[in-house]
Amino acid sequence: MAKILSGKTVSQRIKDELKNETAELKSRGKTTGLAVVLVGDDSASKVYVRNKEKACEDVGIYSEMHKLPEETTERELLDLVDKLNNDDKIDGVLVQLPLPAHLDDSVIINNIRPDKDVDAFHPVNVGKIMIGDYDFLPCTPAGIMELIHESGVSVDGKNCVVIGRSNIVGKPMSMLLLHENGTVTTCHSHTQDLAEITKRADILVAAVGIAKFVKADMVKPGAVVIDVGMDRDENGKLCGDVDFDEVEPIAGAITPVPGGVGPMTVTMLMRNTITASKKHMMGSGN
Ligand code: NAP
Repeated sequence: MAKILSGKTVSQRIKDELKNETAELKSRGKTTGLAVVLVGDDSASKVYVRNKEKACEDVGIYSEMHKLPEETTERELLDLVDKLNNDDKIDGVLVQLPLPAHLDDSVIINNIRPDKDVDAFHPVNVGKIMIGDYDFLPCTPAGIMELIHESGVSVDGKNCVVIGRSNIVGKPMSMLLLHENGTVTTCHSHTQDLAEITKRADILVAAVGIAKFVKADMVKPGAVVIDVGMDRDENGKLCGDVDFDEVEPIAGAITPVPGGVGPMTVTMLMRNTITASKKHMMGSGN
């Protein structure tokens, strides 16, 4: 029986700490503010944005929601980003991805001020993570590191395998494990003999986007298994990239879906926004 790594429990604990931090900032005259920009009508994005609003309320962050129509032009969106970049009430600017097809994600992200880029997607922040000298960590990998710490297993010297190499999850995840002295293998759709590699993992992170992709015969007994996936099973029910029923009996620790990585991602966004707020209070921008 694996230890269940509950993102709900860990994120609540962190949110309680963050609430104290926003109160402390407020007592020193600094309100913390997050602006979230949603373009179009994507239903999953709407849910994510609502969760972010709710988390802001929970931890005492002022939040502003900017809902723009699907047909918003690049110029209009850039003008809004510019306005938020220059708004002192706002410490973090988040543009919900994916954007509608006619808008280029990277053009928009590259125009968010790096010191307000609380998603840590701007190339300046990506570069800082690479060299290990960062202000913000990307939210999902940062949340996963918290869950790995919760397992009680030290990353130092361990075989760590990440399935997936996206810019949002897989690549930064591999980098964070490397920063903690893991021996890291990053797998992707061209990887040969995947199960041979994953079976050697003391810590296995699945960020593939395929329902129940990781089976018991791909997992080393006792491993820490982190499931990033937000997929749908054959009945349309939310599930992860790991076949939980098969893997849980042999894993040492495992995250559930839902209630694992998901809640951590939003909480790390709150933490990044407070980090930005502290820096802005001290007068240091980019
Ligand atoms: P993505 O951009 O689609 O990347 C998927 C990765 O999986 C790619 O690197 C791909 O390899 C690799 N892959 C695909 N098929 C594979 C195979 N058969 N064998 C090995 N590797 C394979 O997805 P993502 O944005 O990283 O997200 C991954 C999952 O996490 C999704 O389910 C997403 O919804 C979820 N997610 C959850 C959260 C959260 O907060 N819980 C946050 C972000 C994402 P190639 O590079 O070769 O194509």
